[in-house]
Amino acid sequence: MNFYSLNNKAPQVSFKDAVINGIAPDRGLYFPEKIEALPPSFFERIEELSNQEIAFNAIHQFVGDEIPNNHLREILDHVLDFEFPVIEIEENVGTLELFHGPTMAFKDVGARFMAHCLGYFSHGQQNEVTVLVATSGDTGGAVANGFLGVKGVNVVILYPSGKVSDIQERQLTTLGQNITALEVDGTFDDCQKMVKTAFLDENLLEAMQLTSANSINVARWLPQLFYFLFAYKQAKSNGKEIVFSVPSGNFGNICAGLVAQKLGMPVKHFVAATNVNDTVPEFMKTGTYNPKPSTATISNAMDVGDPSNFIRIRHLFQNDLEKLAAHFSSYTFTDSETKNVMKQIYDQYNYVADPHGAVGYLGLKQYLSENKNCYGIFLETAHPVKFLDIVEETIDTTLTLPPQIQKVMSSEKKSIKISEYDELKSFLLKTK
Ligand SMILES: *Cc1c(COP(=O)(O)O)cnc(C)c1O
Repeated sequence: MNFYSLNNKAPQVSFKDAVINGIAPDRGLYFPEKIEALPPSFFERIEELSNQEIAFNAIHQFVGDEIPNNHLREILDHVLDFEFPVIEIEENVGTLELFHGPTMAFKDVGARFMAHCLGYFSHGQQNEVTVLVATSGDTGGAVANGFLGVKGVNVVILYPSGKVSDIQERQLTTLGQNITALEVDGTFDDCQKMVKTAFLDENLLEAMQLTSANSINVARWLPQLFYFLFAYKQAKSNGKEIVFSVPSGNFGNICAGLVAQKLGMPVKHFVAATNVNDTVPEFMKTGTYNPKPSTATISNAMDVGDPSNFIRIRHLFQNDLEKLAAHFSSYTFTDSETKNVMKQIYDQYNYVADPHGAVGYLGLKQYLSENKNCYGIFLETAHPVKFLDIVEETIDTTLTLPPQIQKVMSSEKKSIKISEYDELKSFLLKTK
């Protein structure tokens, strides 16, 4: 399938080129030229299908014949080798746990899928591809893990020194091989600025094939639609209309959910729950999109003041606010509301939510308070141990570390310290 740029000033490209480029030459995000609904029979008998089969049916039209079907199936087998359970925590409220993968964050599926696609496309090519990514925490670990050992691809991760959790830092600095961690003396915004500068540096772009691995990349964004299908498969038997609440930062995950709806999945409504970074909730109220600098919160993977995927969401509804509002609401919550509800969920249901999932729960409850008689599913996007200090302090208990985490905690950290763009540039030029 072809993809066009949402800035409309760049040529259409194949799936392969959209994955390799990351972003279009006019700086626009790529968007599929069409989204064809799956036959109703697919949804009628979805519970008879394996997750791999569901995923293959859903993603095949976007990949087209650019990856042979049997290879695409192999990729999906590898990407989806863990569980995605919906756990009911109270009547008509379930949580879709997306944290059972190798780095215990929902970004594992997108990162792995993109890694395998890029590995396939760079096979037999002379030039290696370099994936450059800035992380405030979770993206780095998922990308490092997903790309580890993929031939023809080097990964360079920038993270702010002293500003990611101990577990997150180990997940991105202990793997070695084709993964390098650059520890930046600065903030996440400084890391992101350096990455953006690199993508505009003609000099560098001539010398090497650079791509990004955030949800701008279609191969990281689109496979997230699987989650919603897996949840539908589990929840459909209770006969009620389904509402999804998605804790949102860059709005890639919820945008993929809306694509699942375009594929024909029956859904009543989507809720995008945010922390105090409320650019989208404000937009839904006022119709004015007013991006701002991000504010630090306890759900830090969602500290985004200018969510990059929101433009894709608006495009899905022809930039018509009324049409969008018929399917989509967005609510904002403070850290103290988040902590209170984490405590409440633990005390009442004995369920440990991480701060991101808790924001999702709050969004769901707000919607359900005015819309009775549906089945609500909120997405749990990270395992609570990834936010150990805040979770233990809030619910006043001690968590045990799962084996995936224990393993990285005993490995040795390796990073290269940098503080300026020139150091990044000379590092990149040396690797080629
Ligand atoms: C990245 C992330 C989010 C936000 O997802 P978007 O697709 O950027 O909206 C939410 N929770 C966790 C734990 C994350 O890592």
